[in-house]
Amino acid sequence: MDNRIVVVGGGHNGLVAAILAADAGYRVTLLERSDHVGGASIGSAVFAGHDVRLSRYSYLVSLFPDELARRLGIELALKSRPVSSYTPVERSGRPTGLLVERTPGAATEESFRAVTGSHSEFAAWQQLYGGLAAMAAVLAPALTGPLRRRSEVRELVTAAAGGQLWDDVFAAPIGEMITRRFTDDTVRGVVATDALIGTHTSLFDESLLANRCFLYHLIGRGTGEWLLPVGGMGAVADALEARAREVDVDIRCGVEVVEVDERPGAVTVIGRDGDGNAVQATGSRLLAAVAPAVIDGWLGRSAEPVVGAQLKINLLLTRLPALASGVDPATAFAGTTHLREGFDELEIAYRASAAGTIPDPLPSEVYCHSVTDPSIIGPGEAPGTATLTLFGLHAPVDLFRADPAAAKQQAAASALAALQQYLAEPLEECVAVDTNGQPCIEVASPLDVQGSVGMPGGNIFHGDLSWPFAADDEDLDSPARRYGVEVPGSERILLAGAGSRRGGGVSGLGGAAAVDALLATTRP
Ligand SMILES: Cc1cc2nc3c(=O)[nH]c(=O)nc-3n(C[C@H](O)[C@H](O)[C@H](O)COP(=O)(O)OP(=O)(O)OC[C@H]3O[C@@H](n4cnc5c(N)ncnc54)[C@H](O)[C@@H]3O)c2cc1C
Repeated sequence: MDNRIVVVGGGHNGLVAAILAADAGYRVTLLERSDHVGGASIGSAVFAGHDVRLSRYSYLVSLFPDELARRLGIELALKSRPVSSYTPVERSGRPTGLLVERTPGAATEESFRAVTGSHSEFAAWQQLYGGLAAMAAVLAPALTGPLRRRSEVRELVTAAAGGQLWDDVFAAPIGEMITRRFTDDTVRGVVATDALIGTHTSLFDESLLANRCFLYHLIGRGTGEWLLPVGGMGAVADALEARAREVDVDIRCGVEVVEVDERPGAVTVIGRDGDGNAVQATGSRLLAAVAPAVIDGWLGRSAEPVVGAQLKINLLLTRLPALASGVDPATAFAGTTHLREGFDELEIAYRASAAGTIPDPLPSEVYCHSVTDPSIIGPGEAPGTATLTLFGLHAPVDLFRADPAAAKQQAAASALAALQQYLAEPLEECVAVDTNGQPCIEVASPLDVQGSVGMPGGNIFHGDLSWPFAADDEDLDSPARRYGVEVPGSERILLAGAGSRRGGGVSGLGGAAAVDALLATTRP
């Protein structure tokens, strides 16, 4: 029996799949198009002359289960952020802000009272997030193992958190729940952003795409807490790569797979190296840790266009800037700092972007990794050096196609203006310069993410997120279907990346589900 397995895509999911398959006794070859592995989970010294390991694309971990890290034999060092979020706003012409502690207590309650002028918004917050915590605890186990059915998950959620919460999250557009439970636009916006990260849609869209995005942001590891990978996201990829090499995975970088030949008993992938030479690898199965649209390309099938809609800006600062509200920047930037993400602003920005305009302001959130984890700053850097990462919403890829450079400049200006508005000093005075005298600001549009990481359309989840369960009447008559990793029309290719049923984000769940389906079919 052929015990060779080919993995294509060396992102974190491809590495997870390769390690687990090798651990199970398969001989594994992994092909990756870039000259390094990690995909969107890398750390890089982005700015010339600065020894700082930025989480270049993804930066926080919530969905990677501890049990999976143990199964992989890696250490996943994750740290809580002391603050969940800070939202600078103006009230009666004066700068202030809404603080949400990691565990909301007296300071959060007082902040809600000061910003919203009432006690009811905090009570509503506690009620919603209490229910969501109960839901997370029962739903997290459904992210691994064979898919549960919708009715089973409904029973679990209803028993733990009540039927109203089920309806609010799974049955009606998330915007309805948010506007019914909260009255303050700022509070509504803080809740709503979890439904829009990496997702271009209206909060009232009947497809419930925003609901699915919301769900994945609230259930990771049974708590929904977004944690900081110590050493930056690159530390996660490094640990996986080291383990993959330890279990003898044959990692071949610089090979872009362009075609797949599937026959009874074997599958051969055909790629090209940097010099245009053909490279082939054959195995009994192909674990494809790339986007479904990439696989469609290999199979010569046309795919629906995939839309990514985020702007990512990495900054290196000589010091954190002071805020107009007077809050300590080490507090304001330690969690997610929401900028122009009021509920109405989010909807207005969505409509503008859907109509073909880059929103101004661009709703964005920023976060300082180095304030909680200074280990990413090299010893030679000046005291006070800080990183800042900005993630802008509603910047769909199509708006960057006609004139990529101009659109990127415009989007970056709109996002940075949203930050500057709440600062007490010019941001540029805090930006470090590289050895070429250039400001340390790196901007990536969805087109850039497509070019550098190979995510079609720059979509950070490789496509629209799916519910993490099967419909009641869905056919689950093969291991690939039972684990949510089917590639329609293919016997020997299993989807192992973020586009698998429960795969979105840095979770390892796509890679693990593919190997579980493989082992349910055959063993070496
Ligand atoms: C800006 C940004 C911010 C994000 N922030 C977060 C965050 O904070 N937390 C979080 O959980 N998630 C975040 N995400 C999403 C997360 O990074 C992805 O969902 C995750 O990286 C998917 O992992 P993957 O291994 O499935 O695929 P990828 O990371 O996309 O890796 C796929 C790999 O396949 C390779 N490849 C593609 N095509 C081919 C081919 N034809 N031949 C060979 N190799 C190929 C690519 O080069 C790449 O290395 C973010 C993503 C982006 C872009």
